[in-house]
Amino acid sequence: MPSNHRYTGLIDRYRSRLPVSESSRAVSLGEGNTPLIRLQNIPAIIQKEVDLYVKYEGLNPTGSFKDRGMTVAVTKAVEEGSRAILCASTGNTSASAAAYAARAGIKAFVLIPDGKIALGKLAQTMLYGAVIIQIKGNFDDGMRLVKEVAGQAPVTIVNSINPYRIEGQKTAAFEIVEELGRAPDFHCLPVGNAGNITAYWKGYCEYASQSRGLPAITDTRPVMAGYQAAGAAPFVKGEMVDHPETVATAIRIGHPQSWDHAWRAQKESGGWFECFEDAEILKVQKMLAENEGIFCEPASAASLAGALHDLASGKIPEGSLIVCTLTGNGLKDPDTAIQQCSLKPVTVEPKLDAVKRAISDRL
Ligand SMILES: *Cc1c(COP(=O)(O)O)cnc(C)c1O
Repeated sequence: MPSNHRYTGLIDRYRSRLPVSESSRAVSLGEGNTPLIRLQNIPAIIQKEVDLYVKYEGLNPTGSFKDRGMTVAVTKAVEEGSRAILCASTGNTSASAAAYAARAGIKAFVLIPDGKIALGKLAQTMLYGAVIIQIKGNFDDGMRLVKEVAGQAPVTIVNSINPYRIEGQKTAAFEIVEELGRAPDFHCLPVGNAGNITAYWKGYCEYASQSRGLPAITDTRPVMAGYQAAGAAPFVKGEMVDHPETVATAIRIGHPQSWDHAWRAQKESGGWFECFEDAEILKVQKMLAENEGIFCEPASAASLAGALHDLASGKIPEGSLIVCTLTGNGLKDPDTAIQQCSLKPVTVEPKLDAVKRAISDRL
């Protein structure tokens, strides 16, 4: 590596393994290369001997893993002469699309559900300058409309049905294998449209089979465990859900777009799908923040909720190496976070005595 090396983003790092040419000019904001953090306190709390890691995707440029797919999708859209991109979104895809469109100097149109979008995601999308179209319906309605309108307007869809999204997102699996020197035994993910579980499985499979000239670091692949919210759990029910509901708005999806791919990942890896009530998901979000100092959004906590549940039941054995993807940053959804906190700020007079008392009363 040259001494003046700077990390420029995942296209430059993995160019030979992505559908981009040597000459493609990457539309990048330095995405990828996110921390893989070993949990230090939670294993002791649950009294299990495990190597439990979180892949903190909330540290991508717009605060979610969507940036991995978006850098490739927008790079290709620009290369192919597109002047505008379009997506339906529960929030994070729209924030990411808006940012990469701004970077590329093209237009972004985003369809979001009226109301049910976390405040941080809306703020980002507005400030990045996307045209926001609120649908009086849910994500699934928006997705259907995006597919219908795409044939009739000169815009590129950048939802995860765009195969370049999956290509970009598979690089998270590459990073994990390179950092651990092997694949984990279990990989836990929240599942909404199921593009991400599809992408990770593709990444692990490519690494294991040495396709595209990868070194043979590993010949193992993880068991893929997908977790949903109880009110939006089509993979657990085995059928589409018409009125999905959950506080974890990023996975409030009843008609997943990558249905077949996700079932293939589950079957080929020997994995499973499970779901949890909102209260359980929020409890684990808070537990992770309080005990490890890691703030993720509610949907992201479904992956850790799943790992902890399956460790308790023995489905994931002790001694396992587990990676949970934390898909988005907790700052995305401040309202939900604040609502969960019983410890409110202490208000005192601006005097030394009052501050000293406030501290000593609570030591
Ligand atoms: C998009 C998203 C998900 C769901 O990912 P899918 O690929 O739709 O399954 C989960 N968590 C967060 C924070 C997201 O933004």
